[in-house]
Amino acid sequence: MTLSSNSKRYRGRFAPSPTGPLHFGSLLAALASYLDARAHHGTWLVRIDDLDPAREDPTAAASILHTLDCYGLHWDEDIRYQSTRSDAYKAALQQLIQQQRAFPCACSRKQLGNQVHHGICSTLQTNDIAWRFLCPSGELRVTDTLQTTQTYELATDIGDFVIRRRDGLWSYQLAVAVDDADQGITHVLRGVDLIDSTARQILLQQALGYSSPIYSHIPVANEANGQKLSKQNLALPLTTASTANSLWLALSWLKQAPPAELRGAKIAELLAWAIPNWQAKVLTGLTSMPAPADFQRQP
Ligand code: GLU
Repeated sequence: MTLSSNSKRYRGRFAPSPTGPLHFGSLLAALASYLDARAHHGTWLVRIDDLDPAREDPTAAASILHTLDCYGLHWDEDIRYQSTRSDAYKAALQQLIQQQRAFPCACSRKQLGNQVHHGICSTLQTNDIAWRFLCPSGELRVTDTLQTTQTYELATDIGDFVIRRRDGLWSYQLAVAVDDADQGITHVLRGVDLIDSTARQILLQQALGYSSPIYSHIPVANEANGQKLSKQNLALPLTTASTANSLWLALSWLKQAPPAELRGAKIAELLAWAIPNWQAKVLTGLTSMPAPADFQRQP
């Protein structure tokens, strides 16, 4: 068998923001991206998206890594921390400025209301400004291996989005585009709540001359009231007790149908079954499902 010359070796990643401990929803994203990478004999990386100290919990990164380890989700290569990557983001911003794809903006939130920003406003101010990506006009179609193709009217649906904030912090969109490219990520598998970010990341990849990964967005897990499990909504943290049972529930939630006799099996045994049996396609078109009762907040 020969591999086609353009088949790049699979590199995937899980990229949590360290705003709190992992919950069942983040376990699903971590597990699904891990299984997809391992099933493709690929590399799986963990990156800590620590771009916003005010929103972060200083103990969260260590707790997330410890929890991943307890679930047997062992990563390859060194952990990358986005807080150490300012020079790379600065270089990307400089490139966009040189290409006239980024401009300084002093518009206030009040001035913009809920309109998207479209077209250079070019302030002469040099401080207290944000930098925006100059969004092209036209349509962008974003394909996904699990969700329907999303079509965006760029001027009205996306607009000129912020890539460096007024307070000097880097935007999630710029940092992810730069790091996914720098780390050679070929496949991004994450929750469908991030699907609209994909368009922005692809626009940045195109402007910066990067290739785009293949995207797959899995459904999100909901609380009983229909809200997504999230740190902001105070989702229950995962405990590191009964990890094997939680992993079995996560595999079931991901519709992998683990055999009943594996209930009670150890983590290593569950993963050894799950990797060769991984089927992402069973999640096609699904956008949310209730979390198992044990992982929902109690009313
Ligand atoms: N750090 C982002 C989050 O925790 C996810 C980044 C990504 O997967 O692109 O929501």
